[in-house]
Amino acid sequence: MSETFEFQAEISQLLSLIINTVYSNKEIFLRELISNASDALDKVRYKSLSDPSQLESNKDLRIDIIPNKEAKTLTIRDTGIGMTKAELINNLGTIARSGTKQFMEALTAGADISMIGQFGVGFYSAYLVADQVKVVSKHNDDEQYVWESSAGGTFNIAPDTEGEPLGRGTAITLHLKDEQMDYLQEQRVKDVIKKHSEFISYPIYLHVTKETEKEVPDEDAEAEEVKDEEEDDKKPKIEEVDEDEEGKEKKPKTKKIKETSIEEEELNKQKPIWTRNPSDITAEEYASFYKSLSNDWEDHLGVKHFSVEGQLEFRAILFVPKRAPFDLFETKKTKNNIKLYVRRVFITDDATDLIPEWLSFVKGVVDSEDLPLNLSRETLQQNKIMKVIKKNIVKKALELFQEIAEDKEQFDKFYSAFSKNLKLGIHEDSQNRNILAKLLRFNSTKSGDDMTSLTDYVTRMPEHQTNMYYITGESLKAVQKSPFLETLKEKGFEVLFLVDPIDEYAMTQLKEFEGKKLVDITKDFDLEETEEEKKKREEEEKEYESLAKALKTVLGDKVEKVVVSYKLAGAPCAIRTGQFGWSANMERIMKAQALRDTSMSSYMSSKKTFEISPKSSIIQELKKKVEADGENDSTVKSVVQLLFETSLLVSGFTIEEPAGFAQRIHKLVSLGLNIDEEPEAPEAAAAAEETPAEVTDSAMEEVD
Ligand code: ADP
Ligand code: MG
Repeated sequence: MSETFEFQAEISQLLSLIINTVYSNKEIFLRELISNASDALDKVRYKSLSDPSQLESNKDLRIDIIPNKEAKTLTIRDTGIGMTKAELINNLGTIARSGTKQFMEALTAGADISMIGQFGVGFYSAYLVADQVKVVSKHNDDEQYVWESSAGGTFNIAPDTEGEPLGRGTAITLHLKDEQMDYLQEQRVKDVIKKHSEFISYPIYLHVTKETEKEVPDEDAEAEEVKDEEEDDKKPKIEEVDEDEEGKEKKPKTKKIKETSIEEEELNKQKPIWTRNPSDITAEEYASFYKSLSNDWEDHLGVKHFSVEGQLEFRAILFVPKRAPFDLFETKKTKNNIKLYVRRVFITDDATDLIPEWLSFVKGVVDSEDLPLNLSRETLQQNKIMKVIKKNIVKKALELFQEIAEDKEQFDKFYSAFSKNLKLGIHEDSQNRNILAKLLRFNSTKSGDDMTSLTDYVTRMPEHQTNMYYITGESLKAVQKSPFLETLKEKGFEVLFLVDPIDEYAMTQLKEFEGKKLVDITKDFDLEETEEEKKKREEEEKEYESLAKALKTVLGDKVEKVVVSYKLAGAPCAIRTGQFGWSANMERIMKAQALRDTSMSSYMSSKKTFEISPKSSIIQELKKKVEADGENDSTVKSVVQLLFETSLLVSGFTIEEPAGFAQRIHKLVSLGLNIDEEPEAPEAAAAAEETPAEVTDSAMEEVD
């Protein structure tokens, strides 16, 4: 009747890791098993809202903790949804969760075992204290089954014909390891539950053995008395009561005996924390509630406890964690982050319409006075009350972020964990875009090692600066020395460094901040200029017009156009993209997306403008050379090609033919080293011989 199954390989590995660990904080196993019991109760309660018959198998929703000193076992029993045979097999051993491997990796990297719950493998923590675990479960759709395993690679499943019928739910019996008998002690269990499971919203009953003294008629004594009244005092009668010794009338003799009985003591009698007055709640209570809600092992970073009254009434507590969870952007996973209650009754933690995706890191509870109790998933989604609640949650979450921003150290933590979410919020939530923009922080040409807010940027703007500037790129190193920065720096205009791939998406949605246009300096834009600058630019444009034309002829279709730049300084040239296409950075990001829609690239891909700077001596000399030898001269061609390719690189693009580029550089290296050209490359040799010294020199400066 019993079937044996093998644990999935990673689970097996995890189990031997858990069973052998010397980790001291083993008590968290109880938190995990109680949390599973509570989840199972949530599930059956939710199901019963649309199908009340689900509860017929047992209406009493509760958790029982049953220590058994003789058998050395601790049982955690719930009247939750239970597991069918198939669920026992799948959920407890054969199907690995993504968290299994990630948890083991985290452990290797120094993570703590108590983090297990966050990785979705909390059940296995039972093996921290048990060498054998038995799970008896009864689901409404199946018979009662028993799952059993001492780890070691396999588990057994059998129909449970002999055990006590559960009605519905699950009883997990842990056979404790010899050194873990502590968990049979009433006080120890109470302490652990108080510490980790105080805010579970179903009653937890600890079964405690009570010894009571009871008076019962002492029949032996009565019989004795009849026989031998006189000898009463001499005979050793333990615990015999003789109150009526002096009395004239005789009462029946009694004795006290000890009786053991099992009492069920409710451990979590506190009313729900969100219904209490915030001023009566200590920081420790919030932290402890947060941990029970989130499975987090650390305290929260921020909390907002509020109530909304008026036409619509609800209370809520929102928490911001200290870290991002390991699967923050794993979109397929349902995020059970906000628990919805209706008049203190838990409804669901799967109400996707309660909080927007970009706020999926916020945890908390919402308790509505207005929603009907028998909500189905479908009606939840269209419910107007839900929409209003959602709007309020977003508003309050933003207030909470602003409060966190008042403490720089706290905000730094918050920002490094959740900046991507804020940027996603800017992309998705047009209504709150401006509030969110105030929370953004970037490195910039003026921020030093710190980051700056957009608000602070504005206060530093010189009077004649009208736009706010930013540069996009792969990393700080890549953008910090970009040729695009030079003129802006000269003018004293600050430039923000946007090096997170999501930055560009956010900024293109944001478009402006406090009435000031946000401008990507790697794209085409109009730089503020004085009358004097304008006059000079027009003169230079005229002077270099013919060179620009010649270069366009040499480069052909590789560039859209060649222009004389007034936005570059010392750098000879750079490649700028059009205002509405992709930037170089976006092109890099899009190319990296394996599954991108390739049809997009044809019309979005960057239109390249080759900009040359009259301020650069290379460009000045190149102008002379082209005027003397014409654009068809092979040295001119080769030099222009090199300038184009190096511009691609510094502007954040990749080179399509790296081999050709390398060849051209090697030729320059050979010249610099005075190496005679190899005979088998006659064309190259000819080209080199023709090269006049001045061009070679300036080209070598470039290589330097
Ligand atoms: P998680 O709770 O994060 O899903 P666990 O390892 O704690 O991960 O539990 C694994 C799964 O086993 C649960 O998702 C649930 O389906 C099932 N399970 C565990 N305990 C119970 C229980 N007491 N009642 C019903 N199902 C349970
Ligand atoms: Mg769990």
